[in-house]
Amino acid sequence: MTQKIVVIGGSAAGPKTAAKARRLDQHAEIVLFQKAPDLSMASCGYPYYVGGTFDDRNQLVETPTGVIRDTAFFLKAKGITAYTQTEVTAIRPDKKTITYKNLLTGEEGETSYDKLVIATGATPNIPPVPGRDLKGITTLQSMQDAEYLRAVRDSGMVKHAVVIGGGLIGMETCEALNLAGIEITVVELLPQILMFLDWDLAKILETHVKTKAARVVTNNPVTEFLGTDGHLSAVRLKDGAELPCQLAVIAIGVRPNVQLAREAKLAVGERGGIAVNEYMQTSDPDIYAVGDCIEVTQRITGKKVLAPFGDLANLEGRVAAQNIVNGNAVTFPGTIQTGVCKLFDFAAGSTGLSEKAARECGFKNVVSVVTAAPDKPHFMDAKLLVMKLVADADTGRILGMQCVGPGDVSKRVAEAAMAIMGKMTVTDVATADLPYAPPFSPAIDNFIAAAHVLENKILGRMKGLSATEFKKKLDAGDDMFILDARGTPEFDAMRLGVGEHLIPLGALRARIQELPEDKDKEIICYCKISLRGYEAASFLEAQGYTNVKVLEGGIMAWPYEREK
Ligand SMILES: Cc1cc2nc3c(=O)[nH]c(=O)nc-3n(C[C@H](O)[C@H](O)[C@H](O)COP(=O)(O)OP(=O)(O)OC[C@H]3O[C@@H](n4cnc5c(N)ncnc54)[C@H](O)[C@@H]3O)c2cc1C
Repeated sequence: MTQKIVVIGGSAAGPKTAAKARRLDQHAEIVLFQKAPDLSMASCGYPYYVGGTFDDRNQLVETPTGVIRDTAFFLKAKGITAYTQTEVTAIRPDKKTITYKNLLTGEEGETSYDKLVIATGATPNIPPVPGRDLKGITTLQSMQDAEYLRAVRDSGMVKHAVVIGGGLIGMETCEALNLAGIEITVVELLPQILMFLDWDLAKILETHVKTKAARVVTNNPVTEFLGTDGHLSAVRLKDGAELPCQLAVIAIGVRPNVQLAREAKLAVGERGGIAVNEYMQTSDPDIYAVGDCIEVTQRITGKKVLAPFGDLANLEGRVAAQNIVNGNAVTFPGTIQTGVCKLFDFAAGSTGLSEKAARECGFKNVVSVVTAAPDKPHFMDAKLLVMKLVADADTGRILGMQCVGPGDVSKRVAEAAMAIMGKMTVTDVATADLPYAPPFSPAIDNFIAAAHVLENKILGRMKGLSATEFKKKLDAGDDMFILDARGTPEFDAMRLGVGEHLIPLGALRARIQELPEDKDKEIICYCKISLRGYEAASFLEAQGYTNVKVLEGGIMAWPYEREK
């Protein structure tokens, strides 16, 4: 029997479901309704269109061979009848129909389905503060938003803009507008940007963004948009500061579009997304839901989360299509919340749980380490990577990894994501077989090296001290001997300035008498990335020092101000 599959939503998850269903079933009738004017938009590309990486907006809706994915393409190439600017207004599960309205003509209609797919996406949150309707305030969620911001960029009229929200989209927008020559201030309610990172790594990113001339204000939410003649003129913050600007981009997260589902009495979950089972099936077995409008299982914690990511939207669509066509046959196990973004010369990525999240999720014995290392041999244009590896000390299982820096972040996050999904332990990773050649990585890949350091820490071979722990000790005035094991030229060029003693590793054996006589005194060792620091610590322990610690990641992972 030919089945009729109706899809609501035509950006990522909807078209993926429709296209996969077509590949599996050449006879099904497939109809897709899309509220927006375009189909299959590459939303993740919006910041790069706004920032001028490419100039033709059609590239966002084209196939790799340059064919626009419009209704004619969907019909001819995929055998899918797509309606654009047509909003589905209601779902009637009792009759197995939906009603829709053409937003251009006002014409309304009703159509039946055998299987329905909801892929309605998400809507950006807007802070409930006065002045939010002023002209010059936007989000970056739709093609229209992208076109507006691109026009703003091209007009050259805006000199100052404020980005509200230091998450992934906010920071990508910050870069895009900054590249257009606009002075940007990012305003964040929380104490840090990029909440998927722990504070220490987020701070490294923040410092990088600031060196690129964008201002970042944390811990200070927007309280009012101020305007002149109906147009934005400034943003007021909680501390009373006013930031003059002609443009504000709001990027404080999204909420799932669940209204249709709610009105159809489908179950909505605890996190506010449409509730689905592992087959992507809603509480009505003939209705599936995919993409940003649903909530999914966090694979490590088992808890429900909202995970509005483009890769997941596509994967979920693929699973739903197989189940619709073949009967519930494949499952979607959930997410470990893997993400990555580019920020000027750096990238930032994360997978699994941050240290903070792992503790909050109830892991009792969380252990972490921060490492810093070049991503290739030094003779191959190596770039720095700062990494934080988080594990459950009781089992050794890797729980999360974060990585920032100018090096190849994405590759390391991908490696860690596979290890986490495979439930690998630190010891498993320590002997993993990954590809190696100098253009691509050091002989021991950075992710494996981080596992070695964490293993050393778990086994007590290395007593690591995180930058935040060290800073607390400094602020408390703890009596420590601080040893910088680098060379003099390095010290002259860059140093922490926290009362450290410079004794290069190569001179340590000869200058051991400069160390404290008290063998129980706390000694903190470091260098640029704390490899020489670790070797210095090992040497000192062999000399009978009992309380030697290594500053994790060394100077390159130091998130605080340096003397130099
Ligand atoms: C600027 C930006 C950058 C991003 N960067 C990344 C990234 O780098 N990596 C990543 O993984 N993710 C990224 N994302 C997230 C990613 O784009 C989304 O997760 C993905 O688009 C979700 O797909 P979706 O189909 O569920 O929802 P959407 O893309 O939101 O599409 C839903 C569609 O449904 C339509 N619709 C809604 N209601 C109705 C209705 N009643 N009737 C008919 N149609 C309806 C809407 O018009 C919309 O086109 C980014 C998002 C943005 C905005």
